[in-house]
Amino acid sequence: MSGPVFAHHFDHSAFKGKVEVPIGVFVNGQWGTSADKNAKTIDVINPTTGETLVSIPEGMPADVDLAVKAAHKAFETTWGLNCDGPTRGKYLLKLATLIERDLDILASLEALDNGKTFTAAKAFDVTESAATFRYYGGWADKIEGKVLEVVPTKFVYTRHEPVGVCGQIIPWNFPLYMFSWKVAPALATGCTIVIKPSELTPLTAMYMTKLIKESGIPDGVVNVITGYGPTVGNAIASHPGVDKVAFTGSTPVGRKVMEEASKSNIKKVTLELGGKGANIIFDDCDFEEAVKYAAQGIFFNHGQTCCAGSRLFVQKGIYDKFIQRFQEATSRIKVGDPFDPDSYQGPQVSQVQYDRIMHYVECGKQEGAKVLHGGQRVGKAGFFIEPTVFGDVTSNMKIAREEIFGPVIVVTAFDTEEEVIAAANDTTYGLASGVFTQDLSRAHRVSALLKAGTVWVNCYNELHPQVPFGGFRESGIGRECGPYALENYTEIKAVQINLSAKCAMPI
Ligand code: NAD
Repeated sequence: MSGPVFAHHFDHSAFKGKVEVPIGVFVNGQWGTSADKNAKTIDVINPTTGETLVSIPEGMPADVDLAVKAAHKAFETTWGLNCDGPTRGKYLLKLATLIERDLDILASLEALDNGKTFTAAKAFDVTESAATFRYYGGWADKIEGKVLEVVPTKFVYTRHEPVGVCGQIIPWNFPLYMFSWKVAPALATGCTIVIKPSELTPLTAMYMTKLIKESGIPDGVVNVITGYGPTVGNAIASHPGVDKVAFTGSTPVGRKVMEEASKSNIKKVTLELGGKGANIIFDDCDFEEAVKYAAQGIFFNHGQTCCAGSRLFVQKGIYDKFIQRFQEATSRIKVGDPFDPDSYQGPQVSQVQYDRIMHYVECGKQEGAKVLHGGQRVGKAGFFIEPTVFGDVTSNMKIAREEIFGPVIVVTAFDTEEEVIAAANDTTYGLASGVFTQDLSRAHRVSALLKAGTVWVNCYNELHPQVPFGGFRESGIGRECGPYALENYTEIKAVQINLSAKCAMPI
């Protein structure tokens, strides 16, 4: 390994050992500092302590330029149509195996860098990332066109070809998992990649460069540029050599990415954006399961989940009993050190996010909502916030309308099915919803009427590589996961072969 390295010695009970992570820009299989001499460094903060973990070299637009060139070269020589599906599949399966081999290392890096608990990172983020690479490894040799019946004199078929060089921009809330959602389907289809992790959480993406090298994937196929959004992100979105841009992040930045993507060329654009999920609890639910899933729906990943069930609607018949039990369940969530096996909730990712969430908590109080639980800082160091429950919430309040992206839930009582569907759909977002009922007809009826890309019935926040995920309305464009994601990374070519018809041109 050449280039700058971050070496960290873990001595937590969860994981012990020295881990070396290459840091900096990764272009054409080489690690280094920026090609731009004006580049500075980025401090990566440990959210548990608020202290700097490591300063990484800042990537710049000049690095995006070099990465796009490398990705083009790889596309034309070693990848794209020059590497067959079964071979691409083998590389992806190898990556899945390497991720599983380094499960503890990757989970530790997520805990250190993002603040999510080691336990959750291991059981969910890293395990599911390996599953995603394995799933798309299986698809790589099954990307098929069709033979079309048109007229007997013609043989017509379609080819699903890789789009080319893909620019990918990902957020900090699931650093490795979002990396896998982007990189795995793109590689399976034969695309090459320039990806930018969040400047807040670059470590697992950087560690993945080591595994990508080890897997044997040719240089230049995956390029990783660390850096800030307005510089590196913008350079990816606007670059004329990028054929497609896939973005996951907030709706305002997604809007900007879409705009930039149309300036120098017409890039294909997919966007996975924000949400304000409605979780609907009917009187006839399995009460205890609904309480647990409602808590998991918001507090999983410290509320930093785009599909979080952040608006809870509870039917009047069980409202008081449900709220009492929900408060009690919430009070049992252990907030603390991500490496403590008893912690369910670690710190929020950054001071900025901490301040943003606390601002919303204040707003909620001023708007007249009632804090039923939490609302306070936990400890003195780091960015820990109590799981927070607001009651007496009305639909016009800021806390009911805007994405808080933290451990804050707003609860409202409702009477009828009609009323709650209208309330659930009263948002500009459309990412995910939940329905808790034992009435199968109602489950189908309500699922059909909710304007959301995912409806979970009697569960919440469950994601699988096979199942499409994405948003209606301002929650995005396109779907990730499942065979649907392959469509994002392929162009369809129709080939029409004339077998015997004569040209009708009268000359
Ligand atoms: P963000 O929009 O601030 O940043 C996302 C990424 O975009 C980061 O890498 C950032 O550096 C980059 N970026 C920032 N400004 C940019 C610009 N001008 N041009 C190009 N790139 C730019 O979002 P975040 O705070 O990192 O993540 C939280 C948001 O992500 C929430 O809104 C959440 O709902 C959303 N999210 C959505 C999904 C989904 O699948 N729908 C998944 C995870 C997160």
